[in-house]
Amino acid sequence: MTLTFTDAALDHAGLLRSKPDWIESQLADRKAQAVLFAGGDLALNDQGGPLIMRAKYAARLPMKPPGLIFIGVLDGQPWFAGSLEPGVAEKGPDFRHSAAEATPELASILGRARALLMWHREHLFCSNCGASTDVADAGSKRVCPSCGTEHFPRVNPSVIMLVHAGDQCVLGRQPNWPEGMYSTLAGFMEPGETIEAACVREVAEEVHLKVTSVEYVASQPWPFPSQLMIGLMAEAEPGTLVPDDDLEDARWFTRDEVRALFNTEVSRMMPRHFSIARMLIERWLSADSV
Ligand SMILES: [Zn+2]
Repeated sequence: MTLTFTDAALDHAGLLRSKPDWIESQLADRKAQAVLFAGGDLALNDQGGPLIMRAKYAARLPMKPPGLIFIGVLDGQPWFAGSLEPGVAEKGPDFRHSAAEATPELASILGRARALLMWHREHLFCSNCGASTDVADAGSKRVCPSCGTEHFPRVNPSVIMLVHAGDQCVLGRQPNWPEGMYSTLAGFMEPGETIEAACVREVAEEVHLKVTSVEYVASQPWPFPSQLMIGLMAEAEPGTLVPDDDLEDARWFTRDEVRALFNTEVSRMMPRHFSIARMLIERWLSADSV
């Protein structure tokens, strides 16, 4: 199973994208495609599908800053992305649904495109001197013409962990989630932390449990707007859960209770491959003991 946004075949062309002539040749390539956004969601074509068109023609459409940016090359095909001005095309469904329905290859393009476009939108000005920054290297960075600072797209590492003890695991829910939905705990890493320390701190803060061991499982880019979810199994000392203010509820679940949770309508809203939370829970379910 390929987790959504994790297909590794997309070549970011890090050694070539800073060369304007090379980017021009990619843009002119007859195979070059551009995926177009309307706000944070995909723009729609006339048939109601994602608006994906030849990059050369997409470059002529009215777009928000930073305009058309280079995303990468997949199987010899260059990909670009841009965010259309309002009114140019209809806005599609919530991006989560578009990404969940896409092939693994397209989902990796969509995720990288959305993360980069959202970053540009929020970094039009230099955080060092306040001047307007310029797009550089076909959208892979911004440069301040006033103080010379280079600004690179930001990734926010977050830990996401399945907490378990004995034959039970901990799942929580946030107040804005659909009714009946429970999932793994998660939180942003803080400066000065290792991954393990962030896991221990988050579990202590969120449910007041003491984690005794941490095992890395996998990671997943999460373009909402640009996290890297670091998936962990966290063994904890058993105890009473005390959910913090961000959680509406947190409970201990047996394996049978978790399986029952997966059979509810709310669990079937998203495919299994969409989130690393599901992968972590299924890993625990498949372990017969402890
Ligand atoms: Zn500056």
